[in-house]
Amino acid sequence: MKRALLFVLLLPFAVAGQGVAPIAYRISLPEPEHRWMQVEVTFPDVPPAPLQLRMSRSSPGRYARHEFAKNVFGVTVTDAAGAALPVTQPAAHGWDVPRHPGTVRVRYRIFGDQIDGTYLSIDSTHAHMNMPATLMWARGLDERPITVQFVPPAGRAWRVASQLLPGPTPTTFTAPNLQYLMDSPTEFGGFSLRTFQVPGTPAPPTFRLAVHHTGTDAELDGFAKDVERVVREHRNVFGEYPAFEGNTYTFIADYLPWADGDAMEHRNSTVLTSASSIRNNRLGLLGSVSHEFFHVWNVERIRPRSLEPFNFEDANMSGELWFAEGVTNYYEPLVLVRAGLMTLDEFTAGMANTINVVTLSPGRAIRTAEEMSRFAPFVDDATSVDPTSFSNTYISYYTWGEAIGLGLDLALRDRSNGTVTLDRFMRAMWEKHGKPGGRRPGYVDNPYTIADLKTMLATVSGDATFADEFFARYIQGHDVVDYARLLERAGLVLRPSSPNEGYAGEITIRDVQGRPRLAQYVPFGSPASAAGLEKDDVVLSIGGTNVSGAGDVASAIRRARPGDSLPIVFERRGQRVTSALRVIADPRMELVPGERIGRMPTAEQRRFRNQWLSSPSAGNTL
Ligand SMILES: [Zn+2]
Repeated sequence: MKRALLFVLLLPFAVAGQGVAPIAYRISLPEPEHRWMQVEVTFPDVPPAPLQLRMSRSSPGRYARHEFAKNVFGVTVTDAAGAALPVTQPAAHGWDVPRHPGTVRVRYRIFGDQIDGTYLSIDSTHAHMNMPATLMWARGLDERPITVQFVPPAGRAWRVASQLLPGPTPTTFTAPNLQYLMDSPTEFGGFSLRTFQVPGTPAPPTFRLAVHHTGTDAELDGFAKDVERVVREHRNVFGEYPAFEGNTYTFIADYLPWADGDAMEHRNSTVLTSASSIRNNRLGLLGSVSHEFFHVWNVERIRPRSLEPFNFEDANMSGELWFAEGVTNYYEPLVLVRAGLMTLDEFTAGMANTINVVTLSPGRAIRTAEEMSRFAPFVDDATSVDPTSFSNTYISYYTWGEAIGLGLDLALRDRSNGTVTLDRFMRAMWEKHGKPGGRRPGYVDNPYTIADLKTMLATVSGDATFADEFFARYIQGHDVVDYARLLERAGLVLRPSSPNEGYAGEITIRDVQGRPRLAQYVPFGSPASAAGLEKDDVVLSIGGTNVSGAGDVASAIRRARPGDSLPIVFERRGQRVTSALRVIADPRMELVPGERIGRMPTAEQRRFRNQWLSSPSAGNTL
């Protein structure tokens, strides 16, 4: 079966690259402890036109621009015999070879010291590679087949974990084209490996868990069992796994104290990095596993047209990230609670936080969820030298999309008494836009638009008016659903957590040089804003009492009765300002299972809750 699959895979590039030798990469590590490696690329059969070599400026799943060329040095370009070829540099990320004899060999060194899902890291224990941050490529040769050879440092028996397709030796791999190569992060080092299969199909895929960590084998064994539960539970949403190229899916995890926290989805693999460990952050790490594995369907195969094909030379903008990332964020804890890996209270605490952020953030009045999605090039790991207004003008499409996912799931269940669900919607999207797949590995043939999502909602709900209104109000408008009423259906109570405490808005006050200073921009429309307070103001007194620290200001606000007007004196740019702060009741909500507060759910509420949050295969009820 595997061989048959491989045959299907090889067919497209056998045609595309008829008679053309593959582009060959060779990666070696003469001095890994100094954080650089050597890359050699041979481009054979190059057409007579100038060869345009490029480093990527973006990476699949990362939507802002990242200048990966900045860590490239020592570039030399020769012919096959080693004679130097003239090179020009028309752009910061590009090298052109105007004249060449048909074979071009490029050598360069590249530095990398960031363990995450975006960049490159090299040290004496591994090379952790995100390909756009690592490999130079040539314009116009996107469909050429590719080979990659990894050469370990002298004396080390490093192994390779990657979705790249296996070649003739354990350190030799192939990719059918550039898109697939760039989508194939690779861990080259001395990791631990666990594998499992989930029976139930004629050719069950193999799941590999390659973990580079500082924990014990026993901790990894336990974690691998949890990962398997997550992977099994996800299948219940979609009914099946996709046909993974190579029939294998690989989790590449680096849980190291010197790693950055990140997680990045790919077609047949994911990169998971964290400075925490299996021992001290099991549920947090499983959250990333759950999130990234949901992407196997949602974004990797159920893919927005705006991201297909991925543009490696610029930021990639999509109005659908509230769905691709946000709805994935909703399923992340949902699947964990269904699998029995997360408690009901952990789930409701997370949802309350999401509802609070979306409901209370001033950004909701400024941009819609669709517009927030298009903002990704400025916020998705983007760097900014100058300050931004994002705390006031932006809500993460992860968070807002999660809130939309929750609202849509509950609205569908509410109006159909639990028979129509978001799971059904996701499955319908999979069958129409994901499962048909792509004629070439690394591409999706039937990506969706936002109009397709709305049409599918009309079909699944059987009500085009409902679909139109849901999109107009909650996705392309500024409203939020009535969470309290919908959650009540499941016997969950959404209520103010501290209604008797005073509140001035989401403000942060920190002691700087012993004096309480506003540390962040004040939310638009908040009581603090109405009082004229702003970032960098230093509070001298509140309610007629001099303050000696940030704690005094916070407790004076909390203790005030809603509606009270507190005199406030502060210092700004060397001037004394006197004003009044009219506090309101703290509007932040908590979400509590009714049974915790003496409001026992009815049998009907229990049924609704269990249909939503429990899993027949995990055998749990809530
Ligand atoms: Zn994601």
